[in-house]
Amino acid sequence: FEVQIGALPMPDGSGVSAVLFLRDLTSARRLEAMRVDFVANASHELRTPLATLIGFIETLQGPARDDAQARARFLEIMRVQALRMTRLIDDLLSLSRIELREHVAPTAVVDLGALARQMVDAQGPPAEARGASIRFEDGAGPYPVPGDADELARVIENLIENAVKYGGGQVSVGLAREEDARLGRRIILSVSDDGPGIPPEHIPRLTERFYRVDVASSRARGGTGLGLAIVKHSLNRHRGRLAIESAVGQGTVVRVSLPEYGAAAPLPAAADQA
Ligand code: ADP
Repeated sequence: FEVQIGALPMPDGSGVSAVLFLRDLTSARRLEAMRVDFVANASHELRTPLATLIGFIETLQGPARDDAQARARFLEIMRVQALRMTRLIDDLLSLSRIELREHVAPTAVVDLGALARQMVDAQGPPAEARGASIRFEDGAGPYPVPGDADELARVIENLIENAVKYGGGQVSVGLAREEDARLGRRIILSVSDDGPGIPPEHIPRLTERFYRVDVASSRARGGTGLGLAIVKHSLNRHRGRLAIESAVGQGTVVRVSLPEYGAAAPLPAAADQA
């Protein structure tokens, strides 16, 4: 607590009264510590590929200058590291953009079912290239939610990408409706995989920036550690919820729940549907 003592004149002029101000600094300090941690983590994540790049550039300028085979191999490694930096910067920018508008409710209406189908269609071929297949279980749509189509597409994309990256090869994406006693009618999008699962102690921390169960495996699969943080912030803006259930050795189910359009106040303006 920050403590300040002040004096206030009494309204009737009969003297002064002492005032004690107490300000809770814990949450301000915690936020500041999180910010410092974030900058330190982001710098470290960018430095690692940069150090690799510099190492290879120096090798190509020196010992490997005349070795055509080594040059081709090193250039490929450098390309992969540069792509990793690009992905990281893209994710950092997305995260800060989403945070900037986190308190602005989306005004358009999005059919989550149609959007999920688009994402499954787009991600099918790259998933197959990685040896996975995605099944889409279309329910009784449409599934309208108040939302920002680009942001929701990104949410679905991130969840499917994780299921493909960390799963065992079979991914399924489904939609359903649910009546929640407190939240009203909700649309549920679920993404399941048959991968190794996530030990329970990690689950509460997965949406923290740069938190990974296994850093090496995330990096090897091209992960930045920001995907679920981006999902969480987008969902905050959409009054959405994220639930991750996992059984080690069996797989993971990630569920996103969003308010159904028209079912709960405040209603977005349909005119903004562009
Ligand atoms: P990343 O870029 O590392 O994939 P995310 O924020 O998307 O970052 O996910 C954080 C971590 O959660 C991942 O590194 C991985 O360890 C774990 N994870 C996410 N989805 C799954 C899944 N479907 N199965 C197993 N582990 C997962």
